[in-house]
Amino acid sequence: MTTSNFDGIPSLGTASDTVNLANSLPDVSQLEKLANELFSALPCDGTGTGVGLLSSAASNVFNEQLSGIDKALIPGTSPNHFGVPGEAELQKLFAPRSASVGSFPSSKLATSHPDDALSALHAPQQSVDKSLFTGINTQGFDLPGEAELKKLLAEKSISPAMKGHAIVPNAKADAPAVSDFYFLNESTSLNRSAPVSARDFAHPAFNVSAVRRDFPILNERVNGHQLVWFDNAATTQKPQAVIDRVSYFYEHENSNIHRAAHELAARSTDAYEKARNTVARFLNASSADEIVFVRGTTEGINLVAKSWGKQNISEGDEIVISWLEHHANIVPWQQLCSETGAILRVAPVDDSGQVLLNEYQKLLTSKTKLVSFTQVSNALGTVTPAQQMIEMAHRVGAKVLLDGAQSVSHLRADVQKLDCDWFVFSGHKIFGPTGIGAVYGKPELLEGMPPWQGGGNMIEDVTFEKTVYQPAPARFEAGTGNIADAVGLGAALEYVEHIGIDNIARYEHELLVYAMDKLQNISGLRLIGTAPDKTSVLSFVLAGHSNQDIGVALNKVGIAVRTGHHCAQPILRRFGLESTVRPSLAFYNTHDEIDHLVNTVRRIKNGSAVY
Ligand code: PMP
Repeated sequence: MTTSNFDGIPSLGTASDTVNLANSLPDVSQLEKLANELFSALPCDGTGTGVGLLSSAASNVFNEQLSGIDKALIPGTSPNHFGVPGEAELQKLFAPRSASVGSFPSSKLATSHPDDALSALHAPQQSVDKSLFTGINTQGFDLPGEAELKKLLAEKSISPAMKGHAIVPNAKADAPAVSDFYFLNESTSLNRSAPVSARDFAHPAFNVSAVRRDFPILNERVNGHQLVWFDNAATTQKPQAVIDRVSYFYEHENSNIHRAAHELAARSTDAYEKARNTVARFLNASSADEIVFVRGTTEGINLVAKSWGKQNISEGDEIVISWLEHHANIVPWQQLCSETGAILRVAPVDDSGQVLLNEYQKLLTSKTKLVSFTQVSNALGTVTPAQQMIEMAHRVGAKVLLDGAQSVSHLRADVQKLDCDWFVFSGHKIFGPTGIGAVYGKPELLEGMPPWQGGGNMIEDVTFEKTVYQPAPARFEAGTGNIADAVGLGAALEYVEHIGIDNIARYEHELLVYAMDKLQNISGLRLIGTAPDKTSVLSFVLAGHSNQDIGVALNKVGIAVRTGHHCAQPILRRFGLESTVRPSLAFYNTHDEIDHLVNTVRRIKNGSAVY
């Protein structure tokens, strides 16, 4: 059963409310402190901009047996009770303060605009005094519910895995940087005995207002308007956790990695290799040795082309790509073909922008040595049937590279399930720094691949006669890598893990459908990319207006979109176009922002918004 219990489970209130805990029960502060210990043991730094303590209480104490919250249930909040020991007492203790800090007005919750409902739920959650989050009190107070809280505290004590999850400035890996106040409920059972990992804290829904506060740049004003960042397919914004993690690296850990006897080299090596572990976990690779750090997707594809490609592709062989590809997944293969005499084949798409599987099938023969395609099109947003396409390629013995540049921040990436041979992505497309990305490769392939660049780090031994190379992944990381940004990428992936990629996918899908529906109703507007399976991207053209002019007009009201060919000229030409306007979404975007976009496009169309 899924239900909610927001009535009667208010937030703790503002810091001053917290200090002034006057009520008729003398030991309430102790009980509350215990509750706080419980929540601070969860992946929450306790310093968030508005930790909804008893919203957490609702999730963690009362809802332990609940599997998730259905948003549809939010408007009809009901005073449900769950029969959890201590529930009645806790509700009684906190109920009086619910009135002072606000309850959830059902009229607000009944709105049809999804953002409003989520914001309303979050509204009463005020800041909590940080001092309440310190020190576990072992004293007994004989309070109702105390024993249960203590038991939960013991069960929730942070495991080593969760310690690794932490990112806070000036407190190396001791407290997670993101709070559970994003979430309206929690599916994680508190009675688990298995080690806790970041993935365990994926939640069924999140509060967009709360996540937005993690991204300082979203407060920027552009031309007198609040910034609306709809250029996520080009690059994503960075949460404070990532910014802090990179700063922390330079403040406390900076050193070149490996081969040094000093403390900072140990710290930076640990941080760098921990980030590699995080990438492996995020992609569900079976080992960190399968992860090579590169500058980004482009470099990752080039690595495979120049290393595996040169070794394995020869005259007459065929390489299959799709019509959807970014130039980064076309040019390296063209170069390889011209060097080797291999042939590049291209799988066409239908008018919605989806790969025609029957045509793709026809291209797959015993000559096909490699298939390389994108999981999500950056120009159209099409989600390709990757698993099926990989399976089809493997049937003819081809290897498969999956370009995850656009998919990694929107869909769960599971390289073992996909069974791709390589998976490449860029950190900056998933809330991490620029200049860092990763290649996943199956271990047997990486082991057989020659290095593509030579230098330091990638060698085992060098004489003037010969060089013995390191095994993978070091073999592919010649020279000093982008250490700090690799660490920042690890922080970004942990941030996404904490929010939960499935929650992100669900929310973004809802946003995309909302936006497509509204844009489609503007006469003269043509959406480019209408595949049933698509994500994030809203490419369009508007009759009578140049794409550049639309981009300029949107910028005047603070909306950032990309206009141009999006480094994917072949697919745009497939639709008879040289460029489009491309708003692209991330989970911090809102329905209000979509409304702002749609209204402005309407005004452009009517001539009331000038370029
Ligand atoms: N592939 C796709 C599908 C992309 O969208 C991009 C970036 N727009 C790339 C590859 C190249 O990524 P990067 O520039 O980060 O190397």
